[in-house]
Amino acid sequence: MKLVTTREMFKKAYEGKYAIGAFNVDNIDIMMGVLAGAARTKSPVIIAVSEGALKYMHPAYIREAIKAACEENDIPIALHLDHGKSVEVCKQCVDNGFTSVMIDASSYDFETNIAMTKEVVEYAHAKDVVVEGELGAIAGIEDDIVVEDKYGQFTHPQDAVEFVQRTGIDSLAIAIGTAHGAYKFKPGQKPQLRFDILEEITSLMPGFPLVLHGASSVPKDRLDIFNQYGGNLPAAIGIPEAMLREAASKGICKINVGTDIRVCYFGQVRKACVEKPEKFDGRTYLEPGRLAVADMVADKITNVLGSNDKA
Ligand SMILES: [Zn+2]
Repeated sequence: MKLVTTREMFKKAYEGKYAIGAFNVDNIDIMMGVLAGAARTKSPVIIAVSEGALKYMHPAYIREAIKAACEENDIPIALHLDHGKSVEVCKQCVDNGFTSVMIDASSYDFETNIAMTKEVVEYAHAKDVVVEGELGAIAGIEDDIVVEDKYGQFTHPQDAVEFVQRTGIDSLAIAIGTAHGAYKFKPGQKPQLRFDILEEITSLMPGFPLVLHGASSVPKDRLDIFNQYGGNLPAAIGIPEAMLREAASKGICKINVGTDIRVCYFGQVRKACVEKPEKFDGRTYLEPGRLAVADMVADKITNVLGSNDKA
């Protein structure tokens, strides 16, 4: 199937009250695992590449690998830049066959964020590439949160409307209580998503695709394997799956999955290295990782995102 933008995917996801997974890949092996999981469940999929992964994998290799992926898999595939921090890197991806880019200027002031985002939108739309923007602080556990008003550090609904109108973006990442990385919460702290803010934003912009970052929910068995073989991650990490399903039913069209993939992949790679130290071929050590990623992605699509059989 052809490489597509996320327009059609998001429209159907919004109407069907499910979400599309954007899976972060660091290498071609992980990418093949993600695609296998999505193909098995007949789900549209977004392959997300961070700036770090872009440098590591090289844009030209990514471009050709995705071409091959589209020949091999009969599902809609979008190629997406995750957290582009500069206008330049977004343009580079547009020029290299990406169908979607995220410009994350959320650390700048509101007007600078608008100006940078708008510049990317103008460049990308001219080449039929869609753009995701970000507004509000998606926290890490290290951030000391000072709540000054009802919305605190979260995305302010009125600002979201103004931001979308003035930039012309196609989707918006909002902050409603998720956090990036594995260390989302302090000990004893319960994850809480601000569904009231989500509902307010959706009611102001019905039909507009919203995006949830920092939404990993690593299954316990995967985490156990990772920790058993030298990992040191907290016992329960992530947002409860029921909360993610609720978010998907309330206007969240794209849910990012990053930490889950790393824990899943490298748990199996570590295990294989320990269990078969006499081997020295990459397949022995990496294939279990790829297969585990495929299983995890298929499971997430079916049980959390709800995008199975929507290809
Ligand atoms: Zn993110």
